[in-house]
Amino acid sequence: MARKFTTPRGTVDILPEEQPYWRQVLRVAEQTALAFGYRRIDTPVFEQADLFVHGTGEATDIVQREMYIFQDRSGEMLALRPEGTPNVCRAYLQHGMASRPQPVKLYYVAPAFRYERPQAGRLRQHTQFGCEAIGSSDPALDAEAIELLWRMYEALGLDDLYVLLNSIGDQSCRPAYVARLRVYYELHLAEVCDDCRRRYDQNPLRLLDCKNGQCQPVIAGAPAITDALCEPCAAHFASVQAYLDAAGVAWQLTPRLVRGLDYYTRTVFEIVPGDAGSQGTIGSGGRYDGLMEVLGGPPTPGIGFATGIERIILNLRKRVVEVGPDPLLRVVVAAVGEGPRVAAVALVSRLRRAGVQAVVGDGTRSLKAQLRQAEGLAPQYVVIVGDEELRRGRLQVRERATWNEERLTEGELLARLSD
Ligand SMILES: [Zn+2]
Ligand SMILES: [Zn+2]
Repeated sequence: MARKFTTPRGTVDILPEEQPYWRQVLRVAEQTALAFGYRRIDTPVFEQADLFVHGTGEATDIVQREMYIFQDRSGEMLALRPEGTPNVCRAYLQHGMASRPQPVKLYYVAPAFRYERPQAGRLRQHTQFGCEAIGSSDPALDAEAIELLWRMYEALGLDDLYVLLNSIGDQSCRPAYVARLRVYYELHLAEVCDDCRRRYDQNPLRLLDCKNGQCQPVIAGAPAITDALCEPCAAHFASVQAYLDAAGVAWQLTPRLVRGLDYYTRTVFEIVPGDAGSQGTIGSGGRYDGLMEVLGGPPTPGIGFATGIERIILNLRKRVVEVGPDPLLRVVVAAVGEGPRVAAVALVSRLRRAGVQAVVGDGTRSLKAQLRQAEGLAPQYVVIVGDEELRRGRLQVRERATWNEERLTEGELLARLSD
């Protein structure tokens, strides 16, 4: 027996009945990004693997365990895009966008690939909508990125969301804070989980976002990074908060919100549904003023975010947010016999060119079976073309809602359809 094929583990088909959600989310995402002055960029699905090894970070789970990495036939090491930021930064450098008016504001909608543990219910291919504003450290851009994401969710009908906000400082204030954090954790190493003991050695800032229950009291007592910011970082953070207030976006100071890599600076944020907590984050972002240098470019500040389309749709469904259905099928033309079928194909072609969604019934079936098929397709009108209809120049037209039957010329049918 022939092998049966299925989607690879961690991937899904998006069936026609799910497409209205996708169309709605993508339309609102693009409209919102454009309204905020962002322009679309598309980058390849695969890149040189080193772009992510450096740009996402060699020490991250993504690079160490989750990246789809392969050698092509020439021996070059490539990776399927695991996230959207390093490739947009690569494009900024490659195309000399530093010579354009700054900041350069870009958005993308693209699949991302990560070899995630399937039991966590995560997909190995998911679709991200992301924005990056590159070339300015203006705190207004941080607030704008947060507002953009917030307004997009709001326009989709997701209104009970929270913005979690923090600043993780920069290279001039963070090292001293991390040293203090280490001193504090040294006293509590016996109380924390194994992961945290490893973080203590390798990535102390990440101690603060441990989700393990036993570590929460230790996190609660840890020194807050917001108290350790240098003067420029504190001023930047205060401005971000003031601009968010000015834009009417509600936010919560969340000192445990951190990023583990050195090139992340200052603002970090997450947006979470009111009923979920941090496990349910639907979008997150932050400033990455050190990333361009990691990628071999000159020092260039940047801020961005990404949000997973599948997770947005999950939240829309949970809240029973209605989305517009697919466009209505207006006409099915049923016909049997060579002459009528030629006429039916010509009629459907003319209807479509007039902007009417129309299909012709399955010619391998009887008229009765075609009418049954039409019932399943649920068009507004069913039109029957037979030899008699051709002779008389009048079509047999049934309105499906009422089964009201009339004899109409093609012109009369078109007039009816444009009502
Ligand atoms: Zn822990
Ligand atoms: Zn600082």
